[in-house]
Amino acid sequence: MDSIALVTGASSGIGKACAEILAKNGINVIIAARRLEKLLEIEKELTKKYKVDILPLKLDVTNKEEVSDFLNNLPSDWQNVEILINNAGLSKGLEKLQDGKVENWEIMIDTNIKGLLYVTKAILPKMVEKNSGTIINIASIAGHETYPGGNVYCATKAAVLHLSKALRMDVLGKNIRVISIDPGMVETEFSIVRFDGDKERAKKVYENITPLTAEDVAETVWFAVSRPKHVTIEDIVIMPTQQASALLTVKNYKNL
Ligand code: NAP
Repeated sequence: MDSIALVTGASSGIGKACAEILAKNGINVIIAARRLEKLLEIEKELTKKYKVDILPLKLDVTNKEEVSDFLNNLPSDWQNVEILINNAGLSKGLEKLQDGKVENWEIMIDTNIKGLLYVTKAILPKMVEKNSGTIINIASIAGHETYPGGNVYCATKAAVLHLSKALRMDVLGKNIRVISIDPGMVETEFSIVRFDGDKERAKKVYENITPLTAEDVAETVWFAVSRPKHVTIEDIVIMPTQQASALLTVKNYKNL
């Protein structure tokens, strides 16, 4: 099995669960995010549990110079990244476009699109050079469908779907697998971030419904990663059984 993975947004939720499943399968993992204290806790936990090497990396994916500088100057033992999980991402607000905050749009575009591109740009050339690698982009059902107030977030995730598709074409013949995993509702810190730290409002999103867990998504990621090298799972949409579209859940479906 490949031995080094880089997971962005590994301090919480889906990224953290991905780091864990990789470690459990004997892969050394670079865990990147802005909250170093969380990464240090995760490093401690995973190294103890799975006896693999974990490299915590305080990284803001929106900072172009930092991404290029840190990822092009990884410690020598960590340079051969074979699996990249572009997971760092967020939504900010749920306002209609006419009421939207420009600064929130910029944060989402900078993180979900530009950040993913900066990280990919730092890692991909080495994969091309060695004719080997796996890139997983965490998109969303929101990239396939929009919902009221989802405007810019949905657009960023649609961009991620297109970037995965385009990258698959650009690396054709280079033995690089590009995989998109697109979850529906997952209970993580996602809604707390969306609602600016309002935990009560975030909690309501997951009331009276059984959402996906971060581990459900990580298991799907691992399924795709662990296929033989000639197999690319191009795109998986993974939904809670109680959610039938980006907008429609058992909570708002009146005709049950
Ligand atoms: P989460 O628990 O809030 O985790 C988001 C992660 O992204 C955190 O580790 C956060 O770490 C990191 N992050 C945010 N901005 C960053 C930046 N500028 N630089 C580096 N890291 C950054 O939410 P999640 O649900 O696991 O989200 C993970 C991905 O899944 C996102 O791309 C999200 O869009 C996608 N997704 C989520 C859902 C859902 O319902 N939860 C559904 C579909 C898709 P720091 O704050 O420490 O930097």
